[in-house]
Amino acid sequence: LPDPDVTELTGEGVAALLPRPDARSDKYRRGVVGIAAGSHRYTGAAVLAVGGAIRAGAGMVRYAGVAEPVAQVRARWPEAVVTELAPARDDGRTGPETGTRYASPEAGGVDLGKRIEDVGRVQAWVLGPGLGTGTEAHAVARAILAGDVPVLVDADGLTLIAHDRSLLRRDAPVLITPHAGELSRLLQVSRGKIEARRLEYARLAAAELGVTVLLKGSTTVVAREGDPVRVNPTGSPWLATGGTGDVLAGLAGTLLAAGLDCYDAASCAAYLHGIAGRYGPLAAGDVAEALPEVMRSVTNRPRHRG
Ligand code: AMP
Ligand code: MG
Repeated sequence: LPDPDVTELTGEGVAALLPRPDARSDKYRRGVVGIAAGSHRYTGAAVLAVGGAIRAGAGMVRYAGVAEPVAQVRARWPEAVVTELAPARDDGRTGPETGTRYASPEAGGVDLGKRIEDVGRVQAWVLGPGLGTGTEAHAVARAILAGDVPVLVDADGLTLIAHDRSLLRRDAPVLITPHAGELSRLLQVSRGKIEARRLEYARLAAAELGVTVLLKGSTTVVAREGDPVRVNPTGSPWLATGGTGDVLAGLAGTLLAAGLDCYDAASCAAYLHGIAGRYGPLAAGDVAEALPEVMRSVTNRPRHRG
């Protein structure tokens, strides 16, 4: 593996990239982020990803999921516009990952992929946290990746593309946000090897998969082919708790929807998320709640002039 060029992210660099609304802004122009996350079994991932997106200041968050996470997202986030892809239903064919499977279209059930196509005006998608890896999740992934807006793929979405690389055949940009274990499955390289040479493997994955890579860990790095690997200097071990990755996905999705490219959205998200996790002990939801203050402090602009 060749030595990559490396740069370190800075607060000024991030501040210069962060989008700010102005007098001409409306919610659509500020960015509509779609979130496809959560399942019968994993409802919290949906709530946390939506929370990360909302607290990052999305123009609008559109959540699409099955009944159980839909109920949770509705209860927790009145700001989100919610599409229920399928009603709660356990037809007895229980899958290992989601605990629930939905009847196939042939069996008179719902085509989740088709329902995804009806979710309008999304400018970037977040795909994967808690989504499950069964045939229904695959149909959702296929429908979202068949579209022409940027897609952030995380968690179960990464398992889906590890099993079916053809999902990545698209023209629009893809940002993947694996931890070392998820990247290990994607590259078929041991976790130990990746942990020993994180920058190199992040860059290799970017080149091999044709995507931007945000490789999570105690030091998070961002890689895109042809550019230096960006190393994030913020972050704290308090982030090592369930659900913080889901918040990061929502945050980065908001920045993508606002028009940042994958490389910049990933870089800003990693930097801000690292600061938001600085003071613990914390729960993942606290990281989302800290984002507005963190974004204010990083941009550090007077809110009133004159
Ligand atoms: P996930 O692996 O999806 O649960 O996401 C965990 C999040 O916590 C990522 O943003 C990681 O970078 C961060 N994280 C995990 N462990 C550590 C650590 N020891 N030090 C700093 N950040 C961490
Ligand atoms: Mg995760």
